[in-house]
Amino acid sequence: MTAELIDGKAFAASLRDKVAILAATFESKAMRKAGLAVVLVGDDPASHVYVRSKGQQTVAAGMASFEHRLSHTASEDELLALIDKLNQDRFVDGILVQLPLPDHMDEQKVIAAINPDKDVDGFHVINAGRLAVGLPGFVPCTPLGCVMLLKDRLGSLAGLDAVVIGRSNIVGKPMAQLLIAESCTVTVAHSRTKNLPDVVRRADIVVAAVGRAEMVKGDWIKPGATVIDVGINRLPPEPGADKGRLVGDVDFTGASAVAGAITPVPGGVGPMTIAVLLRNALVAAYRNEGLKLPADAI
Ligand code: NDP
Repeated sequence: MTAELIDGKAFAASLRDKVAILAATFESKAMRKAGLAVVLVGDDPASHVYVRSKGQQTVAAGMASFEHRLSHTASEDELLALIDKLNQDRFVDGILVQLPLPDHMDEQKVIAAINPDKDVDGFHVINAGRLAVGLPGFVPCTPLGCVMLLKDRLGSLAGLDAVVIGRSNIVGKPMAQLLIAESCTVTVAHSRTKNLPDVVRRADIVVAAVGRAEMVKGDWIKPGATVIDVGINRLPPEPGADKGRLVGDVDFTGASAVAGAITPVPGGVGPMTIAVLLRNALVAAYRNEGLKLPADAI
């Protein structure tokens, strides 16, 4: 292996520490804790794990965590009424509705009901628009975490060729917007892209957000490139094991023999997502109280 490992776990821990310091300052100025509300509908086991982890990390950062659980039989109107209540609640700075929602609910309608200034996931169309035109708003946590890791490793990204594989609203598209804002030359690839290996070979920065285990091979990577692997895929279990290994969208062994730096899975992008969520919630709290955050503090 020649590539340097990008340690997302360590970076996320240091970001959480910074958030905790600023959360204490916020509390002393606002005379209340910054608050993050998480809404979970239904009994998806993976969502329960995420929500518990978000709650624990919110409290550990010195913020208030409000958890709301609705049954999978709850109506869309009940969920919208809860969101309305949270929008009005001055102790709630950020609102996150855990996705996916049950099939009988319209995700876009639910996201649209969140006050954009409390939309710490950055999924509201107002925040997508703000990102597109360069106004301050909330940016989805996973791509923002990827840019933080890239800037930490590379400094300025200006002029670099970046290829983002994936065009989802929560990862690929905001990732591309953020890289454009950093003055990269950005190519967005997807399932209809022709000659994907050749497209990826041009890239100084590769961001893989596809959801296909180990799809990006080592010989697709330009020597010295920086590889950010967003994918989280579970392989089928080995004989005798009850769970398969977690892997990314990049063939880690092949790519790390060529790349300059690479994020591992697990321990790369994954830990950044919740750390950035806490960061966004804290930024929301400062804005909601009209307090100024020190420039580039987090
Ligand atoms: P989506 O399924 O919404 O999007 C996948 C994208 O990959 C689509 O744009 C699709 O193209 C593209 N794609 C699919 N197959 C190919 C292919 N063969 N070649 C090129 N492109 C292809 O996924 P998400 O963006 O939500 O997530 C992507 C991955 O990131 C998943 O593994 C997910 O688990 C992980 N993830 C990790 C997070 C973290 O915290 N680390 C957070 C969020 C996601 P098209 O649009 O043409 O269909």
